[in-house]
Amino acid sequence: MAENKCAVVIMGPPGSGKTTLVRSLTARGRISEIEAGNLLGDEVRRDTPLGRQIRPYQVAGELVPSELVQQVIAARLEKADGQFVLFDGFPRSAAQIGILFQLLKEHHLQLCAVIVLNVELQTALERITGRRICPDCGAIYNVYTEPPQQAGICDRCGGKLMQREDDRLEVVQERFKVYERDTIPTVEFFRKEFGLVTWEESANSTPDELLERVSRRLEKAVPQLDLRENPPARDDLPSH
Ligand code: AMP
Repeated sequence: MAENKCAVVIMGPPGSGKTTLVRSLTARGRISEIEAGNLLGDEVRRDTPLGRQIRPYQVAGELVPSELVQQVIAARLEKADGQFVLFDGFPRSAAQIGILFQLLKEHHLQLCAVIVLNVELQTALERITGRRICPDCGAIYNVYTEPPQQAGICDRCGGKLMQREDDRLEVVQERFKVYERDTIPTVEFFRKEFGLVTWEESANSTPDELLERVSRRLEKAVPQLDLRENPPARDDLPSH
């Protein structure tokens, strides 16, 4: 029988730091990440046929239809080879809950944790208005809190940084409305039906503080997960 792997869902409003947290966790272990917003945005940037269908929703700050989200996520999940899979920003609506569980079943994944990030509106707005992304390698910066060494240029690949089209204030307001209307009821579902594995985290702190808190709690929830910053090398581990 196939070995059961572990799925962790990260939810939270725009600017709560979902992707930053997911990337930091991924860097620490045998973990694959599924970044819903970025996978969809990537199709748009590459101007694929799918991207052309996605774009009008994404630039308006609305939810992309679930069938399109499912296609993008299912394709990425095929390539996920980690022992743990982190879902960033999926599911986001009642319709997507069913899709999540179907995908988990197909990929022998067990839902191990649902982490809901809560953030104050002012903090979220500062993060969103300061956010710049590298369209070439996907790195994320913040002009106030994590600026690149040279203004407007990606430290990692030299790409020209840009503001996300949907990070403009009018669109951000719509994204918050959508979160309240569609995603909060989804959070409620997990709280009610999966209360033992669902918990909330304040995301007002620095990304590093949040990372440490979430890492320790995830290690408790999933004992085979080692999220220490410098885990012992494989050769140092006992052989049994
Ligand atoms: P994010 O980067 O998570 O803020 O997502 C950016 C945008 O991508 C959202 O405003 C939506 O337009 C779209 N999006 C991301 N995740 C989903 C999802 N699970 N379902 C539908 N649309 C999504």
